[in-house]
Amino acid sequence: AKADGKGVYRIFSPQMEEDLQNRRNLEADMRHGIKLGQFEVHYQPQISLKTRKIVASEALVRWRHPERGLIPPAEFIPLAEETGFIDALGKWVLQQACQDALNWPEDVRVSVNLSPVQFRQTDLVDTVKTVLELTEFDARRLELEITESVLLQDNAANLEVLNRLRSLGLTIALDDFGTGYSSLNYLQRFPFDKLKIDRSFVRDLENRPDSFAIVQSIATLGRNLKMLTTAEGVETQTQLDLVIKAGCSESQGYYFSPPVPETEFRTMIGRKTSD
Ligand code: C2E
Ligand code: CA
Ligand code: CA
Ligand code: CA
Repeated sequence: AKADGKGVYRIFSPQMEEDLQNRRNLEADMRHGIKLGQFEVHYQPQISLKTRKIVASEALVRWRHPERGLIPPAEFIPLAEETGFIDALGKWVLQQACQDALNWPEDVRVSVNLSPVQFRQTDLVDTVKTVLELTEFDARRLELEITESVLLQDNAANLEVLNRLRSLGLTIALDDFGTGYSSLNYLQRFPFDKLKIDRSFVRDLENRPDSFAIVQSIATLGRNLKMLTTAEGVETQTQLDLVIKAGCSESQGYYFSPPVPETEFRTMIGRKTSD
């Protein structure tokens, strides 16, 4: 806070006022935009490294803004989380993803990101259950991705939510694995179905032997704990060779495909993605 010379403290500078106004506009635009159908879910394939087939896809939200074009989630998810809009948006993404995946072969699953904020909602489990019922989507084809930050706050309650979600029949993946704090005790307390190895380790695979050692160790850990491991952010053939060598079970990345609109994803399924 700055003194304005009359003993009154101004909390906001003009720049901060402008930022606040921008954020308010953006929030209003988001709430309006969802009603106007401006949000889209794109899908990025996840490939089994054993069969080289698409076994799933990750649902990733985008905002087709009338003036600003296609806005990536990094530019609106944080604000949506701060304002609570993520609850409506997250539910919409989940419903859309289940509906879209009804069009796909039954052996192709879909994974949806859950914000830590959604975890604070007492009705999260009911929401997921309702979406599954409304869409008549088989829960066994659904995966929810959570980050370690979910487990940091209020452990007992969150673990119970995870268990209740899992008892609906769906699976849980731990996203961005390796970037949070002391992950190993979570693995002991909660049986995740999958570890998604963060892109930062995959990116450095070619140049840093220690990155390979980490990826290999996570793959081994996963195997021993009966969890699948997905290498995120594979962009090159060399990275693919190395994540296979490290023993990962699945992979996702620009090497195979960026996230694409549903119609494009649909034409992609059924054929092999390598060679
Ligand atoms: P994430 O969950 O870690 O998703 C993976 C991100 O990595 C996606 O970015 C994807 O496009 C990108 N990516 C995939 N392969 C590659 C690659 O080979 N190279 C590089 N450089 N990037 C790759 P995107 O779609 O921009 O999403 C960013 C983040 O926004 C997501 O990270 C996730 O945390 C969040 N997000 C996206 N959709 C949703 C959603 O529906 N709900 C929530 N709560 N968060 C979402
Ligand atoms: Ca994710
Ligand atoms: Ca990730
Ligand atoms: Ca992330």
